[in-house]
Amino acid sequence: MAKRDYYDVLGISKSATADEIKKAYRKLSKKYHPDINKEEGADEKFKEISEAYEVLSDENKRAQYDQYGHVDPNQGFGGGAGGFSSAGGFSGFEDIFDTFFGGGSGRQRDPNAPRQGNDLQYTMQLKFKEAVFGTETEIEIPREENCETCHGSGAKPGTHPEKCSHCDGKGSINVEQNTPFGRIVNKQTCPYCHGTGKEIKEKCPTCHGSGRVTKKKKIKLKVPAGVNDGQQMRVAGEGEAGINGGPNGDLFVVFVIAPDDFYERDGDDIFVEVPLTFVQAALGDEIDVPTVHGKVRLKIPAGTQTGTTFRLRGKGVPHLRGSGTGDQHVAVKVIVPKKLDEKQKEILREFAGTTGNKVDEQNAGFFDKMKKAFKGE
Ligand SMILES: [Zn+2]
Ligand SMILES: [Zn+2]
Repeated sequence: MAKRDYYDVLGISKSATADEIKKAYRKLSKKYHPDINKEEGADEKFKEISEAYEVLSDENKRAQYDQYGHVDPNQGFGGGAGGFSSAGGFSGFEDIFDTFFGGGSGRQRDPNAPRQGNDLQYTMQLKFKEAVFGTETEIEIPREENCETCHGSGAKPGTHPEKCSHCDGKGSINVEQNTPFGRIVNKQTCPYCHGTGKEIKEKCPTCHGSGRVTKKKKIKLKVPAGVNDGQQMRVAGEGEAGINGGPNGDLFVVFVIAPDDFYERDGDDIFVEVPLTFVQAALGDEIDVPTVHGKVRLKIPAGTQTGTTFRLRGKGVPHLRGSGTGDQHVAVKVIVPKKLDEKQKEILREFAGTTGNKVDEQNAGFFDKMKKAFKGE
């Protein structure tokens, strides 16, 4: 199946900055994450997005992609040595060869050298309050580990990898090529052993010779209080197993925080809106306001206007690193009753009579402006 252009997948331009790439990825991965989006095809879409991000977020991989487009390393050798000849001249030859091996720098790395395992990313959805107070949880991630049967060698127990018969264990072969400048001999990584110089005659039955198996690993996570949407936490050493005895990769947990019906968060401050009757607003009252830390008694002074905001200090989100807590901001909304019975109407008419429909001094300026507008001033 033809792959879509990575830039199209993320909906960004070819000149997008690293920051723009990250932002686009965050937005889309949140939208299509299989934990959140249960629609058909969301899973595929998420994989496509992750793959595009993996390439475009890596400077080397992005440069290679810009130059060569999609390259499947497994197909690079599909035609055996014949695959080389189509490279068209020796100048582009090495570049493409490197691309197949993920080299990029022009220098080929030793495949037998210890290498750090790949980093993994896990997106974790948190409820609003879990993010505020932190939580302890267990996640299960599929990851590549060294095969226990063969201890990563890929050879059937009791046997050992042997010298590669194609390169005589050197890991490289000489490729002869006719070019306009004459016959050129290039030393290239052996395509049969991929440069390891080893050949496995009897493969390990568990991993079929790869030395690696994918296992589901349960990991206990302690999410600290105060994490915010889009933040990530690094769990050292919980990525994929290292190769040739190298260290493990890391696991990065990205938090996606579900919105709450009542609380709204901005940084470590929480914003809420509470209704007041116009009688409470006019005469003043004491009301209970919910906060994530429990209810708080709030004094509403007489004559409070709709939209007035009160601050409840220290009733917001704990600061992630360091001490202290954000505030909760309470905006009041004065509600005008829609249904009144006859008696209530009578009282209000009487009330209007006492004021003669005049407004008090505080609001006089506003009504003055409106009067001027009526007159067209
Ligand atoms: Zn094995
Ligand atoms: Zn070989």
